[in-house]
Amino acid sequence: MALKLYNTLTRSEEAFVPQDPSRVRLYVCGPTVYDYAHVGNARTFSAFDLLARLLKHLYGADHVVYARNITDVDDKIIDRSRESGEPIDGVTARTTAQFHADMDDLGLLRPDVEPRATTHIPQMVAMIERLIARNFAYAAEGHVLFHVPAMADYGRLSRRSQDELIAGARVEVAPYKRSPADFVLWKPAKPGEPGWDSPWGKGRPGWHIECSAMTAAHFGEVFDIHGGGLDLIFPHHENEIAQSRCAHGTAVMANYWMHSGFLTIAGDKMSKSLGNFYTVRELLDEYPGEAIRLALLSAHYRQPLDFTKEKIAEAKRTLDRWYGVLRGLDELPDADIPAEVLAALEADLNTPLAISHLHQLSNRFFHAQGDGVQIAAQLKAAAGLFGFLRDDPEAWFRWTPRGADTLDEAAIQAAIDARRDARKAKDFAEADRIRQDLAAKGIVLEDGPQGTTWKRA
Ligand code: AMP
Ligand code: ZN
Repeated sequence: MALKLYNTLTRSEEAFVPQDPSRVRLYVCGPTVYDYAHVGNARTFSAFDLLARLLKHLYGADHVVYARNITDVDDKIIDRSRESGEPIDGVTARTTAQFHADMDDLGLLRPDVEPRATTHIPQMVAMIERLIARNFAYAAEGHVLFHVPAMADYGRLSRRSQDELIAGARVEVAPYKRSPADFVLWKPAKPGEPGWDSPWGKGRPGWHIECSAMTAAHFGEVFDIHGGGLDLIFPHHENEIAQSRCAHGTAVMANYWMHSGFLTIAGDKMSKSLGNFYTVRELLDEYPGEAIRLALLSAHYRQPLDFTKEKIAEAKRTLDRWYGVLRGLDELPDADIPAEVLAALEADLNTPLAISHLHQLSNRFFHAQGDGVQIAAQLKAAAGLFGFLRDDPEAWFRWTPRGADTLDEAAIQAAIDARRDARKAKDFAEADRIRQDLAAKGIVLEDGPQGTTWKRA
């Protein structure tokens, strides 16, 4: 085993050594549930999904715990509920269900643990009390703040000095803050806002404390890998580290910190606020989830990936080719995952290299270089590591965009039967006409020894 991961904490690639190989712990910051996930969010979750799959392959599925939280208390949720009149619980339950459906349709694994912020309030309150007792936090005007100057090496992850932070925080510093860099652990609930009773009055937690409390609850004080998108390094992860380390008195919160690069559009980060996003849901109407996920994994996870629909269309053509290898082969022999595919993923998830090995396998198959069935079995095993090529090949080729103006399966089969009858009757002009008619509707026929099969072009 030679897994290497790039660690943001040390800015270098390191050999991965879990604290306990029988319980490898990966935590990824999950969605704030107020709206549809966009494909930029999906990029980050797809990258960590692949990491979870790889860890499960290396250590055994039962020896890896993959946790991804749900942030279900937040200003954006409150605002959304206020705008639409839908109760907060309704917004979060509906959006969580939508998120699950979208990630399922992309083919992501469900996390093993999916903690929700609102069910961990007592743990957050206890952690805040501990931070106050240890003089890292103070209560003021119904708020509780973390006092940044109390932590000598605050800023290590994002490599910012305290002076820079203070200079950066000069905009409208709240009067109750002792230092401009101090951040909120608890804030009072305004009338009509959700709130929980606490030693500081009715209020709600800040965003950062939830991940510190939930990782401690599910993983303990120090765990293996913490991940998220690049935008979370500062302030979110820096503040998680401050809270957890100062509450527990530990040297680190997690041993490896991993961050995925942005999905961009024409060079800009895809985001809700810029309005330059595609939701996962709208793309799933146009493309199979597997093609979207392959497109998202086509670049190395730390590099930016500029989004175009053409990239998904290209991934769809790649998958057509790979499913084409499996088509018509029913019983495949067992095959190991090719060593070069595993080695590529173990090198800090080098997906472009791993995917190029899958291309080589399918090329070897189509150019009849070697034992076709054996190559197909290797391709399937390699793709299985990503969770690809799980679909029945015939079902793959029959996939139709939602709302597409095309023939249904019964009509296609009826036309194929009519063509067969025309050929039997030696009416080749009619048989050709039927084939061309189907082609015009995007249905391609393939005659083989077992009869005629079809696929959507
Ligand atoms: P949010 O719901 O905004 O907190 O985001 C959920 C996850 O998606 C976080 O890990 C973000 O870092 C990540 N994320 C948000 N926008 C992008 C993007 N354009 N590209 C990649 N990851 C993103
Ligand atoms: Zn978090």
